[in-house]
Amino acid sequence: MISSRCLVVLAVVLGACGGPVLEDAPPDEDSASIQPTTPRATRANDAGADGDTKVDAAPAPTPAAAEELPSPPFGKPVRFVYLVPSDKTQKPDYVKKITRAAAHLQTFYRSQLSGSTFSVHSTIVEVHTTPHPASWYSTHVKSGVSMLERWWTNAVDDGFALTGAKFDDPDYVWLFYVDSDNACGQHGGAGTSHVGAFPSNDLRGLAGEPKIPTCAADPPDWYDTPPCRWVGGMAHELGHALGLPHPPGCEENKATCDAHSVMWTGVYEYPTTYFNAAERASLGASSFIKSGAAAPNFDCNKL
Ligand SMILES: [Zn+2]
Repeated sequence: MISSRCLVVLAVVLGACGGPVLEDAPPDEDSASIQPTTPRATRANDAGADGDTKVDAAPAPTPAAAEELPSPPFGKPVRFVYLVPSDKTQKPDYVKKITRAAAHLQTFYRSQLSGSTFSVHSTIVEVHTTPHPASWYSTHVKSGVSMLERWWTNAVDDGFALTGAKFDDPDYVWLFYVDSDNACGQHGGAGTSHVGAFPSNDLRGLAGEPKIPTCAADPPDWYDTPPCRWVGGMAHELGHALGLPHPPGCEENKATCDAHSVMWTGVYEYPTTYFNAAERASLGASSFIKSGAAAPNFDCNKL
């Protein structure tokens, strides 16, 4: 499914584009060891309007957080989809955290792009229960898909089947948060071609829950991270979904690497990070980036 595109992941550079490829950067997100991020829906529930599948209504946000929600839709949206495996229970808190992370991220993008940012969908976080248990995503073998890309491919395949999403969708960018753990040796969060997918640790990260190391040898500090880092993961993979590559030279460990960009280790520094000039120019030219959103300003560690 992604065999002809470069799946961009963050974390260790595991390979170059040439099949379904995943890139990652520094200790980052989607690599075999580190996992990235998540979102959710808040506003009304007209989600079904654009899709052909049912969408569970997401719990309404608390009044106190109302001013910190994403702006009402103002352009082609980034659709945040929370996929609940058949053996998992939907967590209202995950919907809330994804929603607030989306609001924070809208403000971050707006701060970087001269007042323009991405829109969300009328149902900010669309929730679907999938036909597969959580373990299926890391274990199901699909012909032609490597171990490295197994989790991501299965997650995206289910997301597409449930929502009608597709790669390079001209109308939507799709970010799937799947409550399933990728296995050691598999990419977790990654983004490419208007699509991004994130595993359980990103949901846990946004929710401030303990993360589960993907590989036994993973450094604890990869996981002992505050919610902001996981919003940073959302920023990074959305950047990939919108077409951004990693900064030049970073994957080659060159000194010229713009390391603190959110498209590299800035993920871990969010929100004290940035899109560099080339990244801003690219995003500014995207049909998904428009002016019109408000800019709630709150602490991303208090989603
Ligand atoms: Zn990346």
